[in-house]
Amino acid sequence: MATNDELHSGSPNRFIEALPLKLKRCPLCRYLLDGLPTRHRCPECGFDYDKRWDVIHQDRRIGSILLACVLFTWVMSFVNWVAFSSPGRLILGLGLVLWMLGCVGLCWRAISFLRGGRRNTTIVGHEGVQIFRSREPVRQIPWAAFDDVIYTRVGGAAGLRKNGRVLETIDQTIFGSNRKTVQFIAIANEWKQRAAGRDD
Ligand SMILES: [Zn+2]
Repeated sequence: MATNDELHSGSPNRFIEALPLKLKRCPLCRYLLDGLPTRHRCPECGFDYDKRWDVIHQDRRIGSILLACVLFTWVMSFVNWVAFSSPGRLILGLGLVLWMLGCVGLCWRAISFLRGGRRNTTIVGHEGVQIFRSREPVRQIPWAAFDDVIYTRVGGAAGLRKNGRVLETIDQTIFGSNRKTVQFIAIANEWKQRAAGRDD
């Protein structure tokens, strides 16, 4: 337990201090951190980072883009069918306008996904686990709140255990995929081990 206190008081734990510098970019705004100190404030967004932290970005939800494409194609097929089965050119014109608006909407959505907008970012570091939605902090779990993390079968979530019991979970939707959830569990447990002063 003293090791948890050490983490909170900020006094050095040699296992934590010896961690390699992994962060290349600011976890929140992706600003390139080359040449900046290990522990510093991001010049772009003001976030206090530490290059030893582990960062898990939510998997891009390609599935929802595909779903949007399928639905859009289905609706446009219906509009085309109406346009070609009636003599009115007005409907054909409306269909074309809808088509163009839809294309603009899909492109905008694809671009915002590619730029990483509105994604969850999970940071595992000295202060514990921090979860951000875009750049807003949504959840903060200190190291003292749990002993280890297990994979919970129900929903494939990350279960935080204290004294052998799962007290709270982090839903898989936070990480965007099962792969990232498993990755988080491994990273969180590794940090927990280091906090306890064990090197593996
Ligand atoms: Zn930043």
